[in-house]
Amino acid sequence: MATAAKVIKCKAAVAWEPNKPLVIEEIEVAPPQANEIRIKIVATAVCHTDLHQLLENTHEDCFPTVLGHEAAGIVESVGPGVTEYKPGDKVIPLFIAQCRECRFCKSPRTNQCDKAWGKKVLQFSGTSTFSEYTVVDQMAVAKIDPAAPLDKVCLIGCGICTGYGAAVNTAKVEPGSTCAVFGLGAVGLAAVMGCKAAGAKRIIAVDINPEKAEKAKVFGATDFVNPKDHSKPISQVLSEMTDGGVDFSLECVGSVAVMRSALESCVKGWGVSVIVGWTDLEDFSARPLQLIAGRTWKGSVFGGFKGRDDVPGMVKAYMDKKLKVDEFITHNMTLDQVNDAIELMKHGKCIRTVLNVSPQ
Ligand code: NAD
Ligand code: ZN
Repeated sequence: MATAAKVIKCKAAVAWEPNKPLVIEEIEVAPPQANEIRIKIVATAVCHTDLHQLLENTHEDCFPTVLGHEAAGIVESVGPGVTEYKPGDKVIPLFIAQCRECRFCKSPRTNQCDKAWGKKVLQFSGTSTFSEYTVVDQMAVAKIDPAAPLDKVCLIGCGICTGYGAAVNTAKVEPGSTCAVFGLGAVGLAAVMGCKAAGAKRIIAVDINPEKAEKAKVFGATDFVNPKDHSKPISQVLSEMTDGGVDFSLECVGSVAVMRSALESCVKGWGVSVIVGWTDLEDFSARPLQLIAGRTWKGSVFGGFKGRDDVPGMVKAYMDKKLKVDEFITHNMTLDQVNDAIELMKHGKCIRTVLNVSPQ
């Protein structure tokens, strides 16, 4: 490759300070060091976690940064010691690495690798995909089917695995069960899809935006409830609909109030509620009796998937038409339009906007 071992000057969307539009500018991407891979990003989508980072994370030492973590690309060059990947491989960068050596990687119970989060100061989640090129550690890359369309499977890099896995791996939704999914962005819709794949009989989709109802049916929701249509608390509405509460609930909003509602919507005795939405600003609260009565409250990152092992399989499931991906994409734009994509998400006008960064 003509560019190997050289600094690449390329375009990226830089976040200079909290809550300000990103600025498209030229950045320099260093050649990959030992165990690193430089990736040409082909497509990247905007996830709500990027917005949290921009709007909630006001620590000055988090800026400037390049956001973006839901992407797919092609290996441009590799650093010394990289044997599993070569230039030309199609890959999905992972915001949760998998070193395969730490205590957590060795346990089948979690995907939370000790080296999970990127260490580079300017990198967000160790990926920084709102850029034409990025450098990541080889622990944080999944090699995928060379035939996979990167402008679609980029969504498998976060939202789809996060929601789907939260239902299948974390909640362990059972056949014949009743589920409720709060929040119908890509993460929640993927959770609906996961509940359906696990054999749930009834899937109640909950969102304050009535425009999400149609989309939820596409992924398998049987009912749609808008909390704003009711004067009673949503947990009471769901309890009345289900003879005492749902078996499984998934919070895909990122609100401590909704987390509590999701827990309280579960049936006593065995109900399981999973927190998927992202926030770190406030404490949450609940009455102890909720748990004493036999409910379980748990959380999930990246759907519990171990990225290098499991992401290629999710891409295969899409290629085999066993997993929906195209249905999440409501808009296609270029990297220059990243601020428009962020505005769409802020106002609930999209499910996912894919930014086409480089030709495949
Ligand atoms: P999104 O903005 O596309 O969707 C959020 C949805 O929640 C919207 O449809 C909105 O109308 C709805 N909502 C807002 N308030 C609500 C309420 N009170 N009750 C019901 N619905 C409500 O976001 P997304 O990209 O789908 O992400 C969802 C959440 O998941 C975010 O918090 C994101 O940061 C988080 N996330 C977590 C992980 C993880 O690994 N745990 C990974 C990715 C994203
Ligand atoms: Zn994400």
